[in-house]
Amino acid sequence: METDLKQELLSLDLQELESWMLSAGEAKYRAKQMFSQLHKGISPDEMTNLGKRLQAKLSEHFHWHLPLIEQKLVSKLDGTVKYLFSLCDGNCVESVVMRYEHGNTICISSQVGCRMGCKFCASTIGGRVRDLTPAELLGQVIAAQKDLGERISNIVMMGIGEPLDNYDNVLKFLRLVNCDEGINIGYRHISLSTCGLVDGIYRLMEENLPITLSISLHAPDDETRSAIMPINKRFGVDALLEACRAYFAHTGRRISFEYTLIAGKNDSSENAQKLARLLNSKLRSRTETMPIHVNLIPVNEVEETDFKHSSRGAVQAFAKVLESKGIRATVRRRLGADINASCGQLRRAAMKEST
Ligand code: SAH
Repeated sequence: METDLKQELLSLDLQELESWMLSAGEAKYRAKQMFSQLHKGISPDEMTNLGKRLQAKLSEHFHWHLPLIEQKLVSKLDGTVKYLFSLCDGNCVESVVMRYEHGNTICISSQVGCRMGCKFCASTIGGRVRDLTPAELLGQVIAAQKDLGERISNIVMMGIGEPLDNYDNVLKFLRLVNCDEGINIGYRHISLSTCGLVDGIYRLMEENLPITLSISLHAPDDETRSAIMPINKRFGVDALLEACRAYFAHTGRRISFEYTLIAGKNDSSENAQKLARLLNSKLRSRTETMPIHVNLIPVNEVEETDFKHSSRGAVQAFAKVLESKGIRATVRRRLGADINASCGQLRRAAMKEST
């Protein structure tokens, strides 16, 4: 079998592209010239200013692909745009662009599928197929920006997959998307959501990138959490919150907690009391005043699971308990409700159709 040793052009950072140009006997400035065009979604074949000889050399050494739009759904309610992208091996991932007053935010996928096994989540049902490369992570932002003809100014890594389970590629992507010569999105405009890979959180902390960390907590104790999130058997609630405390102490960046409310599982007033006690005792002991923010999300009902979302009253009551204990809680506004904008479900539907 012939092995394909070509690299993906979009996975290269500027320094790597510069080194390649020099080793190929080309002028170094070509790298910068190309890099900014590549990140606008222009293919090397379209870059007529490169000259035919360099274009030929590039295609000999590199692949260039952008994720292809297989489906695009636009919400009539709030303009949210959901993309089903296909990758060059035929696998699909989803990205969602949300329109806020402060700009466009894209929610991107980090893996094809997921192996974390959270019981309420559609993305993990078929397991993990593979990691996304830096080019494919970046490609989602480039392709959406190109399609919309508008700038995307914020990124949340909350789509399909567990970003800290694809650590090296995600880190490279963060650096690429932050690069001045490329898309240039500030780290403070990027959030990374994790189900709680504690070793990954410590690794990320040492990188000193001022990104926002979002923790999918979803339960106030080990018993409740382990029943819905298998990762909790490896890294329990105490270890997770200790990592959050360390992350905040090291970076000064606030951490937000995601809490998906599932009727009868984690949404009682007792659960809320427990959650407030837990967060206050683990994160605000003695002199520390860590700002804590809890995002409450009524669970999106997934066909394959029998989890039901909490009633509006239960959600409000849960928020009230947290607020009364000094914890800011917001109920997530559901964007794109008419296009099923929560991640994983479009890919599942496409997979079902093709089998
Ligand atoms: N793996 C990462 C990021 C992807 S999931 C993580 O776990 O954080 C993004 C968010 O959506 C997580 O908070 C996840 O728990 C939540 N989520 C998954 N399925 C959901 C569902 N059916 N309803 C509501 N939220 C869900």
